[in-house]
Amino acid sequence: MAQEYDLVILGGGTGGYVAAIRASKLGLKTAIVEKRELGGTCLHRGCIPSKALLRSAEVFKQTKEADQYGISTESPTLNFTKVQERKQSIVDTLHKGVQGLMKKGKIDVYEGFGRILGPSIFSPTAGTISVEMNNGEENEMLIPKNVLVATGSSPKSLPGLEIDGELVMSSDEALHMEELPNSIVIVGGGVIGIEWAFMLADFGVKVTVLEYLPHILPTEDEDISREMLKQMKKKGVEVVTGAQVLPDTLQKDSSVQMKAEVDGETMTFKADRMLVSVGRAANIKNIGLENTDMQVENGVIQTNEYYQTKESHIYAIGDVIGGMQLAHVASHEGIIAVEHMADKKPHPMNHNQVPACIYSNPEVSSVGLTEKAAKEKGLEVKVGKFPFQAVGKALVHGETDGFVKIVADKKTDDLLGVHMIGPHVTDMISEAALAQVLDATPWEIAETIHPHPTLAEAIGEAAMAVDGNQIHG
Ligand code: FAD
Repeated sequence: MAQEYDLVILGGGTGGYVAAIRASKLGLKTAIVEKRELGGTCLHRGCIPSKALLRSAEVFKQTKEADQYGISTESPTLNFTKVQERKQSIVDTLHKGVQGLMKKGKIDVYEGFGRILGPSIFSPTAGTISVEMNNGEENEMLIPKNVLVATGSSPKSLPGLEIDGELVMSSDEALHMEELPNSIVIVGGGVIGIEWAFMLADFGVKVTVLEYLPHILPTEDEDISREMLKQMKKKGVEVVTGAQVLPDTLQKDSSVQMKAEVDGETMTFKADRMLVSVGRAANIKNIGLENTDMQVENGVIQTNEYYQTKESHIYAIGDVIGGMQLAHVASHEGIIAVEHMADKKPHPMNHNQVPACIYSNPEVSSVGLTEKAAKEKGLEVKVGKFPFQAVGKALVHGETDGFVKIVADKKTDDLLGVHMIGPHVTDMISEAALAQVLDATPWEIAETIHPHPTLAEAIGEAAMAVDGNQIHG
C-alpha cells in the first residue's frame, strides 16, 4: 500500500540527510530514498575518505621530516593497506552515525532508486514517487506533499578518456586503489585534482598535473593560484597549464600514455595510471524529470532562491543544481528548502558568505570576492596581506609557507573577501565567514583580539595591513 509523507527526499547525501533531520525537527513526516549508502558522495566517495588519505600522507611526510623537530626515526615505511583500512573505518563510523540520526529523527529510509511519476489523484502537486527497491521486492509507491531532489553528481570524463576504473580512474576508483602507482597523470587542475596531487606526492608518487586553462585553481584569487603553483613545484609536482589533452592518442598497456597540445607543441605524457578530474555532472537521468515541468539548463536543475523548481512542491538542492558543489552548501540549501516548505521564511543564501576550502598541503581557504572579481565589479579595492613566515606559531609548527590576504572596499571600508594559503587555514576561515555575515570591516577584525601564539594572528595582522598598520611586517 502506498505510504503518505509530508516530504520525500530523493538522495541521502549531505544535502538530503541534513534536510531530512531539519524536516523531522519541524514536525514533517519524512522519508529518504537512497540507492547506495546514506551519507552520499561526501561521506563515501568525497570529503571524508579523501581527507583521511590526505591525513595519512601528511603524517608520512612529517615522519620523514621529523629530524627537523629533533626526533630521529628509522626510515619510515608506508603500509598502504593499513592506510586504506583506517580510511574505511572512519567512513564506517560516520555512516553508522548518519543511520542512527535517521532512526532518532523517525525518518523512513527506502533503499532503492527513486523516480518522480508526475501528478496523480493521490499526489496532485508533488507527484507520486516510485522506488525500485534494491532488495528486488515490488516497487514501493510514496505519496508526498513535497519532494526534495538531492540526487547529487557523478564524475565527468572527456571523450576518449573513458574511465576504466583501473588505468584510467575517476576520484571514485582512486579512493579504492589497493596499491600506490609509481607515477600518475592527473587531468584537471581544479580542487579535486590538486588535493590528489598533494596527497600522492606526499606518499612519494611522481605526479604530473595537466590543466587546460592558463592557471590551476582558476576560481581562486590570482595570488593564491600563483602561490599554489610555487608550492606544487617545490614538492616536485610537474604542472602543465594550457594543456589540451588529445584523447584519441590514449594508449594503454601496463601503463598509460597520452599526448597533449601545449603552446602549439605536441607533448607526450606517460605514467602508471591516470586520474581524470574534470568536474562532476548532475545526477538527473531516469529520475522522472520528463513527468514534471522542472527545468534543466546546462545539465543542472533550475530553482529559485528557496530551491523551488518550476513545480512549486518539488525542490532541488546540492550538486544536482550546480553552483558551488560543496557539502556545506548542499546541507545549507537543504535546510533553506525545508524551512521554506514549512513556511518558516528562511533567509536565502548569500554566496559571498560561503567559505570554500582545499585540503592541499599547504591548505587553501577563501570567502567572498577575489581582488580581480571586486575590480571587475567596478569597486576600488585596498588589500592587506600577511605572511605566515612572520607568525610565531607557524614557525613552531614548522609550516611557514603562505599568507592571508584581505580585500576591502577603499571607499566604504567594507570587507569584500578573505583568501588564505598556509597551515590549517581551512580551520581558520570560519572567522572570516562570520565577519562576512556580520558585515564587519577589516578594522573590526583587527580590533578582535587574536590570542598569541596562534596561526589566526595572521588574520588580525592582514586586517591591520589593509591600512598599513600591521605590527610584525
Ligand atoms: P551527494 O552527496 O552526491 O548525494 C546524492 C545521493 O543521492 C547519493 O548518495 C546517490 O546515491 C543518491 N541518489 C542519486 N540518484 C538517486 C535516485 N534516483 N534515487 C535514490 N538515490 C539517488 N565538498 C566539501 O564541502 N568539502 C570537501 O572536502 C569535499 N571533498 C570532495 C572530494 C571529492 C573527491 C569529491 C568527489 C567531492 C568532494 N566534495 C567536497 C563535494 C561534496 O562531496 C558534494 O558537494 C556533496 O556530496 C553534495 O551533496 P549532495 O547531497 O548534493 O549529493
